Amino acid sequence: MKPVRVRFAPSPTGGLHIGGVRTALYNYLLAKQTGGQFLIRIEDTDQERYVEGAEDYIMEALRWVGIEADESPEKGGKHAPYRQSERKEKGIYKEYVKQLIESGNAYYAFDTSTELEEMRKKLEAAKAKNTSYNMISRMQMKNSLTLPSDEVQRRLEAGEPYVIRLKVPAKQNIRFKDLIRGWVSVESSTLDDKVLLKSDGMPTYHLANIIDDHLMEITHVIRGEEWLPSAPFHVLLYQLFGWEHPEFAHLPLILKPDLKDPKGKVIQENHGKLSKRDAESMGFPIFPLTWQGSTGYREAGYLPEAIINFLALLGWNPGTNQEIFSIEEFISTFSVERIGKSGSKFEIDKAKWFNQQYLRAKTNQELAEYLKKGLDSASVDYSMFSEAQLEQICEVMKERATFPDDLWKEARYFFERPTKYDEGVVSQKWNAQTEEVIKTLKEQFTNETDFDGTKAKEALHHEAEAKGLKLGQVMPVLRVALTGVGAGPDLAAIMQILGKTEVLTRLENALNTIKI
Ligand code: GLU
Repeated sequence: MKPVRVRFAPSPTGGLHIGGVRTALYNYLLAKQTGGQFLIRIEDTDQERYVEGAEDYIMEALRWVGIEADESPEKGGKHAPYRQSERKEKGIYKEYVKQLIESGNAYYAFDTSTELEEMRKKLEAAKAKNTSYNMISRMQMKNSLTLPSDEVQRRLEAGEPYVIRLKVPAKQNIRFKDLIRGWVSVESSTLDDKVLLKSDGMPTYHLANIIDDHLMEITHVIRGEEWLPSAPFHVLLYQLFGWEHPEFAHLPLILKPDLKDPKGKVIQENHGKLSKRDAESMGFPIFPLTWQGSTGYREAGYLPEAIINFLALLGWNPGTNQEIFSIEEFISTFSVERIGKSGSKFEIDKAKWFNQQYLRAKTNQELAEYLKKGLDSASVDYSMFSEAQLEQICEVMKERATFPDDLWKEARYFFERPTKYDEGVVSQKWNAQTEEVIKTLKEQFTNETDFDGTKAKEALHHEAEAKGLKLGQVMPVLRVALTGVGAGPDLAAIMQILGKTEVLTRLENALNTIKI
């Protein structure tokens, strides 16, 4: 494939939906695969929806997952500026709108909001199929198609507010081939005379978007399916400007998951786009990073590689069973042809699974950094352990961890001596006989000059056998005495990490505290 020029064009209107990260990712993958360029353009012409901080947030979110642009507001590039508000200041859009007015493809409209409202009501009352400002209704309105030209001139000179609308041509069939959806064909009579330039002088999304895609030499527009209805209008605009339009690929929606019971059985099938509300009610993040009180994937403990892996496979399939991909592998295997047509259900358990895989693949040294960070933030003392011991804790805990914080949250007992003991284990298994085993072990360990976790566990086996007790009877008792809880990693590893002195102290404490 020839090198593409693609872009991610977010509007800074709030936190970036996780689906937006997928859109950026697919664009990025195609750019890297073909040796092309990936651009970020900020579409900030809608001043009413502008949210302070949203642009920085979007940029940080993309940086977090490792999506770097070749051209962007921060990085600059040959088509700078990359913020539409700044491009507007340079007069870029006005110049092109003038072209459309001169070629008779756009017109001034002076209608007030009350007049627009009246038009809508009148058309509704007449049961008109289409109540928008279009090729039929435009002739009843106050615009440069209906007013005498000297009046238009007078109004413009007097500085009366106006918008510029596209004059959608009659009886045209607008067709284009979407790389995912196939042929799309629309009659021009179904399109409205959309506003191109607003009364505040700002271009609308439609106008600025296509002018910039053209000027920035975008070859492929890859974006969410919610933009598919606007695409015929965009194609028409390209035609009226006399420009070739880029290729379009509208990505299937990300759908909310089905509701399942704890065993994974579907109890309610869901349809529709995944919203912030759905995600919140189902207990998972919708934003890559925390945004205005909504916890992000980063803060919830997801690793950026896991998120990338998960998102890339949400809608695209490699045609094989491979599930774990490095970014390089995605770059080499990605293809627009393998993006599905139908929406993809967002399965948070799958994201968790990826997180687990990536967490396990980290070295113990890397994991120990996470461990220390978590312990620091919870003010848990870990000074009794050496670096090597902390790494051993990670080694035994990583098989049980989904998130970095599980490394210590599930293993707090390494750092804090138990003061309470699992009641189930105590009531069912702690009895005179098993207590006797603990006492014997304690004596044996005291005399041990060369204490070792594996040997200590062997001693337990030995004692159980000698007393005719089942391992399932004594093992939980020793575990509860050492950790306070009924489940966890291998006891040999736990005792090895705690060391002789600590093991003895804990056994002593348990014997003093637990009463039969
Ligand atoms: N600014 C639009 C958005 O926020 C861009 C849509 C497009 O890619 O054309 O999604």
